[in-house]
Amino acid sequence: MSIEAERRYLWHEVVHAIRRDEACHGWARHTMERSVEREAARRAMPLAALHAAVEHPATWHDIVWLMKVPEPWVRFRLEIAHPAERALLREARRWLEETA
Ligand SMILES: [Zn+2]
Repeated sequence: MSIEAERRYLWHEVVHAIRRDEACHGWARHTMERSVEREAARRAMPLAALHAAVEHPATWHDIVWLMKVPEPWVRFRLEIAHPAERALLREARRWLEETA
């Protein structure tokens, strides 16, 4: 398992621990798990980190590298971004929406 994938799993389990969940029901199938994934992605990639990554001249690959998590999870984080977050990121990097 890559270090990026390990980080993703750890963030997922950290959110379960914070919520005092007693079990993990697997990934993405269960409503609770989708909620955990959204929270884990937001914690792993806070807006300030995303903004800093897209603000400087960088390729999509560079942005993913800076997030230190698997590429699909970076896409997922951008998909679940709040409208205000999306607007801020779009302003910082106009092509972001096309790439993600
Ligand atoms: Zn889980």
